[in-house]
Amino acid sequence: MLNIEITVGDITKVNVDAIVNAANTALRGGGGVDGAIHRAAGGQLIYELIERYPDGMHVGDAVVTFGYELPAMYVIHTVGPHYMNVGIDHEALLESCYRRCLEEADKLGLHSIAFPAISTGVYLYPLRDATRVALRTIREFEPESLERAELVFFKSEDAEIARELMNY
Ligand code: ADP
Repeated sequence: MLNIEITVGDITKVNVDAIVNAANTALRGGGGVDGAIHRAAGGQLIYELIERYPDGMHVGDAVVTFGYELPAMYVIHTVGPHYMNVGIDHEALLESCYRRCLEEADKLGLHSIAFPAISTGVYLYPLRDATRVALRTIREFEPESLERAELVFFKSEDAEIARELMNY
């Protein structure tokens, strides 16, 4: 079982093997955590994305690039569901984001991964519900190499909610 840690801060500064990016389907950068990761990684990140993923990616999936100027060796890009989109199973898609990122990290033989609160920014997924999905999916995952998953919250009040949910 993975060791789960809840921290507050900027995910671009976290010292882990891979950080997760809450990207969008175009995979060409954006606002929020996506913009911060692109700025901190430097310009090479977008070139790798354009070359390797010319058609972007699907919601709920995960793809890997290098981290370039980030402390993390890899960035695992995933696209969460937009909570305002109707006719999709938000929970299943968010669960898929977490699971697919863990699978990709494990496939690379990594030991540590850090997640932002996927979909809880401009994609409007309620933080409490999203965090329940994150915790459940990470707890259910059976890792081969992964030992530690860090949930990094930008706002301390979000981390407080996550700490409360951890104890259930
Ligand atoms: P999404 O489009 O998936 O909702 P956002 O980037 O808008 O993605 O927000 C996802 C979460 O990431 C939000 O909870 C936001 O507070 C948080 N966030 C924004 N910037 C950072 C950062 N540099 N490090 C960690 N978390 C961040």
